[in-house]
Amino acid sequence: MNYIILDLEWDSVFHKKHRRFVNQILQIGAVKLNESFEVDDSIEITIHSALSNRVTGRFARLTGITKENMQKGVPADEAVEQFNRWAGKDTVTLTWSTSDLFTIYENEQLVFQNARFHLEKYVDLQAFIQNEMKLLGWQPNGQISLSGAAEFLRINTDGLPLHTARADCLLAAAMLQKCYHPDRFAQLIQDTRSEVFQKRLFFKPYYLNKLSDPAVDRKQMTFVCENCGNCLKRTSGWNYRNRWFIANFHCKKCALDYSGRICFRQTFDQVIIKKKLLPVVAEKAESEQKRNEMQRLPETM
Ligand SMILES: [Zn+2]
Repeated sequence: MNYIILDLEWDSVFHKKHRRFVNQILQIGAVKLNESFEVDDSIEITIHSALSNRVTGRFARLTGITKENMQKGVPADEAVEQFNRWAGKDTVTLTWSTSDLFTIYENEQLVFQNARFHLEKYVDLQAFIQNEMKLLGWQPNGQISLSGAAEFLRINTDGLPLHTARADCLLAAAMLQKCYHPDRFAQLIQDTRSEVFQKRLFFKPYYLNKLSDPAVDRKQMTFVCENCGNCLKRTSGWNYRNRWFIANFHCKKCALDYSGRICFRQTFDQVIIKKKLLPVVAEKAESEQKRNEMQRLPETM
């Protein structure tokens, strides 16, 4: 079994035939790791665009791939075949987030003639590393970049020309060596050739907005009093606003009013539930305070 860390560099180009911009792959970079995650081999192939004879300034600055480099490249189909031969069989391919996969599918549909990446098993390395970082105390604040993760994991990036495909792969390999956990890693391995893989990849999560939706678990739509722990009594119907189902709740024992809020996010695998309970008294007091401040304003001006 070999592990392939794959990193693609792509540039946005207008595709005349399809009348839209596509992210055309202009460089394939990859490293091959053995079962101990040591780097065995690496490859970097620059692609000669069939759609444009130039590259954008932003792309050139970010990747160091100039118009001249690109023009010395090989045609995309040849590059993909070269990569497939190099990768060989019985592989697990890893990319930093699934955006490389979307780009692969887009290029296979719109840019390549016949070439197809021969991916077998796949792991989203970003998902794996973010999970491990959470266990180390990292507080998620959106998706983390490769260099951001390296910094958190104290991996030295001095001298690595980041945003070139090969350097990004080497950095990802160092992270994998540092964070590898056999069971948690194995749980993330997916088979790209299975039907469910593409369904999951292209599935767009959405918020449930109808109470009658069978995926809405009504048993979850209850709250307990923050003061006494008793089950709250709902005193209004449910309203839907901004992804949230909202209703009023009351604790008889404490004579407290609450606003209970719950949202249901449907992902491919599960419904993720978030709940909030806000004391209504505090809300009232706050708005009263605001009103008072506003009324006081003219005096201070
Ligand atoms: Zn109570």
